[in-house]
Amino acid sequence: AHLARIGAVDEKINAFLHVDREGALAQAREVDAKRERGEKLGPLAGVPLALKDLFTTEGVPTTAGSKILEGWIPPYDATVTKRLKDADVVILGKTNMDEFAMGSSTENSAYGPTANPWDLTRIPGGSGGGSAASLAAHMAPLAIGTDTGGSIRQPAAVTGTVGVKPTYGGVSRYGMIAFSSSLDQGGPCARTVLDAALLHSVIAGYDEKDSTSIAQPVPDIVEAARNGSAQGMRVGVVKEFRGEGYQAGVMQRFDESVELLRELGAEIVELSCPSFTKALAAYYLIAPSECSSNLARFDAMRYGLRTGDDGTHSAEEVTALTREEGFGPEVKRRIMLGTYALSSGYYDAYYGSAQKVRTLITRDFEKAFEQVDVVVSPTTPTTAFPIGERVDDPMAMYLADLCTIPSNLAGNSAMSIPCGLAPEDGLPVGLQIIAPAMAEDRLYRVGAAVE
Ligand code: GLN
Repeated sequence: AHLARIGAVDEKINAFLHVDREGALAQAREVDAKRERGEKLGPLAGVPLALKDLFTTEGVPTTAGSKILEGWIPPYDATVTKRLKDADVVILGKTNMDEFAMGSSTENSAYGPTANPWDLTRIPGGSGGGSAASLAAHMAPLAIGTDTGGSIRQPAAVTGTVGVKPTYGGVSRYGMIAFSSSLDQGGPCARTVLDAALLHSVIAGYDEKDSTSIAQPVPDIVEAARNGSAQGMRVGVVKEFRGEGYQAGVMQRFDESVELLRELGAEIVELSCPSFTKALAAYYLIAPSECSSNLARFDAMRYGLRTGDDGTHSAEEVTALTREEGFGPEVKRRIMLGTYALSSGYYDAYYGSAQKVRTLITRDFEKAFEQVDVVVSPTTPTTAFPIGERVDDPMAMYLADLCTIPSNLAGNSAMSIPCGLAPEDGLPVGLQIIAPAMAEDRLYRVGAAVE
């Protein structure tokens, strides 16, 4: 049924870069066979899922939304892919995304933009727009995304779906193509809080193949999602998460959500986190710096595209020609920014000061969590904007992640859930809930209460 749905609507939406029809049917048949043999089935046996094309899949193309990886077939599965298979999930295919997860609209994909199922002229968010759109258009009931600065939560917000950025180190990064390694985090996308919890519990947990993986046990998020409650919860509202640039209808739905939390027995606490105003600036030094280093591996020798290998060019020239052809404009912009910020003489002024701001943001969160159990905010300042509106204005594009980036810099956990439609345009609004590291149970408990 899901493959048929993809066949019927994805021509208009472009959520999938690759539909693995044969692989999905084979996995589904295998689940049936296991059931008939009376074998123990995995916790998500037979449930279809859309996987962001940033995760390697053995024998199935993986492009990261880039031309430089066109035609590359990974020889191994990411840990997330492996855990999904072990849970007997049926992987339908790989979803569209901004190239190497750099963007907020999926317009930076080398394979064309994804449309928002709510309004095909609008963006589905990014970088994981394909995963979010596949859920909103009912092409898949579950999806996987990655969140470096908001790429799970912002697409969830603008498509009326649920997305969770786990604690940094909570879900293995092994086989997840690196963008900014100290920020990147894979996580679950779904249409309900409970579905997200069921998926999250399958992919989370220690992995010896990821040196930043957390060895602590994961909190019982499924139990939390089944027993939603805000009773007695202290909920922080941060004053820096409002003001200029926030759409009126987004703030209206957010304020109503805060009222609902109060009615459900939460205590609302006003907070100030002054360093949050510098989060975007710090992120756009740290993320490009790490990207410039990570993307150095795409040198035309190891993977994918190779341009100018005709006997007339040196190895260095082949590398340069390949990167010129294979990377899109946003990726090039970030490699240049990052290389500059890391160069000798500038390192302390740029990368060094961004790291200091990162520490201040972490301290702001620590202080906040001395007073409250969770912090809430709008997930995004605006609803889905029209395709094309911000492509030539990187600064406007970057603002989409104003509220999501602080959690990546601090490494804590955060969720976006739908909280109604903005009255002025009828488009979905997201409520962000933030909890300390390894306290995801709070997200699921509060999320399930207000969903
Ligand atoms: N939009 C942000 C960026 O362009 C975040 C992307 C992400 O989380 N992968 O970097």
